[in-house]
Amino acid sequence: MLKVGIDIGGTKIAGGVVDAEGRIIERMRVETPTDVADLERAVVDMANALRERHDVTAVGVAAAGFIDAERATIIHAPNIAWRNEPLKANLEAHIPVPVTIENDANAAGWAEFRFGAGRDVEHMVMLTMGTGVGGAVVLDGQLYHGGHGIGGELGHMRFERNGLLCGCGQNGCLEQYASGRALQREANAIADAGGIGTALAELRSEQGSIPGPAISGLILAGDPGATEALRRVATALGEACGGFQAVLDPQAFVIGGGVAQLGEHLLGPVRLAYETSLPGFGDRPIATFAVAELGNDAGLIGAADLATAADEGA
Ligand code: BGC
Ligand code: ZN
Repeated sequence: MLKVGIDIGGTKIAGGVVDAEGRIIERMRVETPTDVADLERAVVDMANALRERHDVTAVGVAAAGFIDAERATIIHAPNIAWRNEPLKANLEAHIPVPVTIENDANAAGWAEFRFGAGRDVEHMVMLTMGTGVGGAVVLDGQLYHGGHGIGGELGHMRFERNGLLCGCGQNGCLEQYASGRALQREANAIADAGGIGTALAELRSEQGSIPGPAISGLILAGDPGATEALRRVATALGEACGGFQAVLDPQAFVIGGGVAQLGEHLLGPVRLAYETSLPGFGDRPIATFAVAELGNDAGLIGAADLATAADEGA
């Protein structure tokens, strides 16, 4: 049975036709329009273009926001101008098959659980490090949605008291310390402080704010300033994972998003911080850490897998 999965990212909308084993049969990609109406039109056009070429029974859409229990409305989105947006209805008005909406990190986490780095466990936590920090919790083989649909928002757990202001309206959220954006902020701060930040400072004077890919390039090349920026961000994530372990006791953490492309450069300091903040470390079983195997495709594959066709019931 074929389904369309569409992942609305900050810069790109990625879509594909996905089969029951999570394989992508055909894919499409467009830039993300900034205007919300244009964005929804782009999703409709992509879904219908893919649908016309394949026998598709449902469409799944992954979006970065708090989605209600009915999987219909985006109640709030910390980094997009969506407030009580009836996304399912808006899309179904123009797409003649059922549309299922899912949180982007939940969709990615579900894909990793079904087909990727979490396929051998029953209890898994996924964290995505991009513009924000997304979270997905799989317990007993089920995606955890909480009482109102919006559980598993791990990026908005308070990490620092009186900390940085977050897009969700709170302050000190993990997202402000462990996202791709936080990595950029730390790299810029290290550049401005001089010392180990010489290579970063050069980029800063050439380009203003240092772009993420340039920071990654320096990390891979072993630059001490960029490595320190990553260490700070990885430490925040690892410390938070110690707390998630205490609450959820997963067998595996899977880390996705742009920053996860750094692989072991990221996972090394994450594991260290996790172990040093884990209650009962040394005496208790611990979780494994892996980067997402499905990379940038995880969101669209998971959205397709979670999409419910008319004859499958809700
Ligand atoms: C949002 C999440 C989303 C994550 C990654 C966070 O700011 O609250 O819903 O999954 O960013 O896009
Ligand atoms: Zn927040």
